Amino acid sequence: MLVKKIKRLLIKMALIFTLTASILIPNLTTHKTYANTYNNKYTIVVDVSHRDTIYDRGASAYGVYESDISLSVSQIVKNKLEAKGYRVVFTRQNDNDIKSLKDRVNIANSINPELYLSIHANSSERVATGTETIIDTVGGRAEKVAKEIQKEICSNLNMEDRGVIHRNLYTRNIKASTVLVELGFINNKEDLSKMLEQQDTYADCLVNAIDNVIHN
Ligand SMILES: [Zn+2]
Repeated sequence: MLVKKIKRLLIKMALIFTLTASILIPNLTTHKTYANTYNNKYTIVVDVSHRDTIYDRGASAYGVYESDISLSVSQIVKNKLEAKGYRVVFTRQNDNDIKSLKDRVNIANSINPELYLSIHANSSERVATGTETIIDTVGGRAEKVAKEIQKEICSNLNMEDRGVIHRNLYTRNIKASTVLVELGFINNKEDLSKMLEQQDTYADCLVNAIDNVIHN
């Protein structure tokens, strides 16, 4: 009796193993091939913004800090880019990691990535809303990515389109193409709730914008 029971159990286990393997292995293989042949050579530097000094946490409202929004969105962006096979380097790793703007320029220039993406949240004295992307060079890859970012975020998150803005920033000292996105206004409740609750969609928009331009 016992032997039969054990036999039956073993057959069941073998069956479950085979089924699980047949579901998992093709996915793993597909992903690996995709990653190895498709994007592996592309490095993106994601700038987890602020914490330039120990006191700098960026803008804040309703008890939320810009540096925290940037860190959590950056982490999701990193996972999604890596899933597509990109190599991702952060300018700072966590909340206690302090990096000056000069440090960030040095990191970017030592790597010379395909793109430097800096993730921010905006703030204003008067009531304002919407997404804007800032570039320091007109006409290159940065402008293309910036336009895609605006299109993706404004349509998928129903954000007001404040456009692509040309402005001189510290990023002008970075040799690679750079874009700085202001996801929304931290002191606007509606924008803030999107930046807290729809980070996954924001990340999808940023990743799609980058991937669309790099593979066009
Ligand atoms: Zn900022």
